[in-house]
Amino acid sequence: MPLTFYPPLKTDEAQCREKAQQLYRRWVLPTALADDRTQLFRPDVFKTFAKEGLTALAVPKAYGGSGMSYRCHYGVIEELAKGPNAFSVTIAVTNLVMGGLLAFGNDNQKQLYLPKLTSGEWLGAFSLSEPQSGSDASGLMLKAKKVEGGYSLTGTKCWCSNGTDADLFLVMGRTGIHKTQGISSFLVTKNTPGLRIGKKESKLGLKASSLTELIFEDCFIPEAQRLGKEGEGFTVALSQLDTGRIGIGACGTGLATAAIERMQKELNGNFGQSCPFKDTIAHKFGEYYARLQAVKSLITIASELKDQDQDIKVLASHIKLLGSDLAMEVSHDLVHFLGERGYQEEEEVERFFRDAKALQIVEGTNQIQRLVIAKEMEKMV
Ligand SMILES: Cc1cc2nc3c(=O)[nH]c(=O)nc-3n(C[C@H](O)[C@H](O)[C@H](O)COP(=O)(O)OP(=O)(O)OC[C@H]3O[C@@H](n4cnc5c(N)ncnc54)[C@H](O)[C@@H]3O)c2cc1C
Repeated sequence: MPLTFYPPLKTDEAQCREKAQQLYRRWVLPTALADDRTQLFRPDVFKTFAKEGLTALAVPKAYGGSGMSYRCHYGVIEELAKGPNAFSVTIAVTNLVMGGLLAFGNDNQKQLYLPKLTSGEWLGAFSLSEPQSGSDASGLMLKAKKVEGGYSLTGTKCWCSNGTDADLFLVMGRTGIHKTQGISSFLVTKNTPGLRIGKKESKLGLKASSLTELIFEDCFIPEAQRLGKEGEGFTVALSQLDTGRIGIGACGTGLATAAIERMQKELNGNFGQSCPFKDTIAHKFGEYYARLQAVKSLITIASELKDQDQDIKVLASHIKLLGSDLAMEVSHDLVHFLGERGYQEEEEVERFFRDAKALQIVEGTNQIQRLVIAKEMEKMV
């Protein structure tokens, strides 16, 4: 799409995007539709992307990452989200674990786990939600009882993306009664005795990414695997959600770009020639395109702030809200305007719609993003 207004991509940023597109066309696209139907995640494809340095772009080279900018990282997420979003979400979630390790891990933890994650040998998962605590994450109840040498975890987590495929879980549990300061975070490897991966959920979108329960039954976690200080777990979780929300916004702009391009192709082709309301569609999609540029610009700003290690909390909420709402609205209209064709699996248009809905919910629903922004606005006057 040549019509762009946000700051031009630097050479390395353009190269990362191009490489991601090439690999995507070669390794993801040929089986994307079938994998979506059969809910199949392909670890070998993830490893291929990792070997090319595309899954840990903003992680320092010292830990096997690519040592590049956040604009490269979010750019690749956006490129990949032009196809089924399960793959870009898998990369984004693994980055939540790597980000947590980088920000709160000690040297041993970083040396032990980061190279495995950056190489693609291991996949990461982030487990905060519980049946009774989604939006109000501080209501979590997974018990992390202090025992000799570590903690014993008991309880059930839910909706854990990458659940069946992950090797390392970043898990938030309760070590005290204080709502937020009574939460600690733990690095849990998949074969730890006492951890069971529960049922795999069947869901509307993001089908090639697994979503599971995690069941902890007197699961011993050595003290050395607590991430950050005791009581710092909620801060760990929120800090990674901030980074992750920009990623979800970038999934939204990737998906919206693909949907807008698809509509434009339709308008330029046979559909446009015979469509009696072509102008109505063109006007609507013109506005979507303008909104797309605005969200992309915010992602560019946020990436630069992340590279400077500045606070992006509220900006991340703007991006998550605007990017995922845009994806939802565009894909809704694409399905609707194409009528029966839009509703057919073969056309791949309904998949945009299903994936977009997930983007509005994951990593804090869009109502929660509005609350974050509204709270900040209280300080304005
Ligand atoms: C595809 C998918 C992948 C996910 N992956 C993960 C993962 O990897 N790790 C993880 O920990 N979790 C994950 N989740 C869980 C996700 O973070 C939660 O679903 C989300 O936080 C919402 O929580 P909930 O589902 O319990 O909804 P609830 O909190 O019960 O909310 C229900 C509705 O009420 C609204 N609502 C709630 N509180 C307020 C409020 N104060 N004001 C206004 N409206 C409100 C919500 O917006 C929502 O519409 C995933 C979810 C999905 C759908």
